[in-house]
Amino acid sequence: MKPTLVLVGRPNVGKSTLFNRLTRSRDAIVADIPGLTRDRHYGHGKIGDKPYIVVDTGGFEPVVKSGVLHAMARQTLQAVDEADIVLFVVDGRQGLTPHDRIIAEHLRQTGRKILLVVNKTEGMRTAIATSEFYELGLGEPCAISAIHGDHVGELIELALAGFLPQQKEIEERTEKYPKIAIVGRPNVGKSTLINTLLGEERVIAFDQPGTTRDSIYIDFEYHQRHYTLIDTAGLRRRGKVFETIEKFSVIKTLQAIEDANVVVLVLDARNDISDQDTHIAGFILETGRALVIAINKWDGLDDYQREAIKQEVARRFAFLNYAKYHYISALHGNGIRGLFPSINAAYAAAMADLPTPKLTRALQAAVAKQSPPRGGMSRPKLRYAHQGGSNPPLIIIHGSMLDHVPETYRRYLENTFRETFRLEGTPLRVEFRTGY
Ligand code: GDP
Ligand code: GDP
Repeated sequence: MKPTLVLVGRPNVGKSTLFNRLTRSRDAIVADIPGLTRDRHYGHGKIGDKPYIVVDTGGFEPVVKSGVLHAMARQTLQAVDEADIVLFVVDGRQGLTPHDRIIAEHLRQTGRKILLVVNKTEGMRTAIATSEFYELGLGEPCAISAIHGDHVGELIELALAGFLPQQKEIEERTEKYPKIAIVGRPNVGKSTLINTLLGEERVIAFDQPGTTRDSIYIDFEYHQRHYTLIDTAGLRRRGKVFETIEKFSVIKTLQAIEDANVVVLVLDARNDISDQDTHIAGFILETGRALVIAINKWDGLDDYQREAIKQEVARRFAFLNYAKYHYISALHGNGIRGLFPSINAAYAAAMADLPTPKLTRALQAAVAKQSPPRGGMSRPKLRYAHQGGSNPPLIIIHGSMLDHVPETYRRYLENTFRETFRLEGTPLRVEFRTGY
């Protein structure tokens, strides 16, 4: 599992600026997808061969009125409790404030690994910028400038010291059964859906979770096929019933998405699509996992309401155009069967074997139909294609002058490959490599 860095601090200290910097290397993937670039709170980053997940708690639910909760919202507290490393950001220009002390007081009690980050210190002497923050009792402060990037690399090195480099993901991903993560914000009906699924079919085994932030892995069989369900809703078996005993957890959700082959994103037809829904969806896209969207609580709505929801979903999730949508009632069991063909198709597409000759033929046909535009003096030459990975499928195109291939043409090729190989339900990545 990738370590999770959680950013906390009062408003305006520079958390989202730091978040953007920490996730920048991955931004290319999501850069020109409308509705995704702004205001993200969950993202991926990598330093050297060490990947990590970043959570910016700055956008979490509005502040409550009293106590510690005044400074930190409930979901923030939970994210802190589940973090591998907490980056507590303070403002070096403004200096120490009472609000910082309240947050520090809470953080000290959590026993998490905490790094005190003094931001906005460009042009300041480190000793002066950090001196007053020692009294927070959180160890040596790290002086950075999120906006200029000063010392951010060192900060991350320090945060990740002791975490292992990335393991070979592909080997891990091909073993065993399809892993299906059921995710969504609180109360959309995840536990109800899992209960309905498990009620219908035989549960084979339960793995016990290690810590509270771990999801439960449930092996089960549906219409003669094996799956492993990753349950983020926190069901526990008590006698013969399953019941929810844990609350929603952002980090659990992110880790489950990372670990799944196919994600089922559950939405609530009785509530508007929230920013939290789109943040989770954005993270799924960034991860490259196959995706099926289940709009739950479809029972008892009239035609007008249904039409309104369909339009809302289409508008907010336009960037997930590769996913299949299902309108279901987890409570009454309607539409559940229909989910599985989509899950199976998405899994098959995510894991598809794409042989070099077929890919190259598809590439040549695409070029014959429409050749890449000239870039300056020269025309890019696309020679052959091979598969560089799965889940999501990665197609690497070899040739010359490929730096000049415009994004629109890359999209055109992506669509061609998607159609040729019928890759439904999974994102697809197309990369260019000049030479050999
Ligand atoms: P958040 O509310 O904690 O997420 O803070 P933001 O990232 O939105 O930043 C608040 C303000 O501080 C913005 O105007 C940023 O441009 C500014 N800011 C962020 N990082 C730095 C920095 O390193 N130096 C300076 N001088 N300003 C910064
Ligand atoms: P979770 O937090 O995502 O696991 O959500 P739950 O499964 O606990 O469901 C939250 C509430 O929504 C409960 O009161 C459920 O009975 C209700 N609910 C779940 N699925 C449906 C559905 O398909 N239709 C209706 N009308 N209510 C549902």
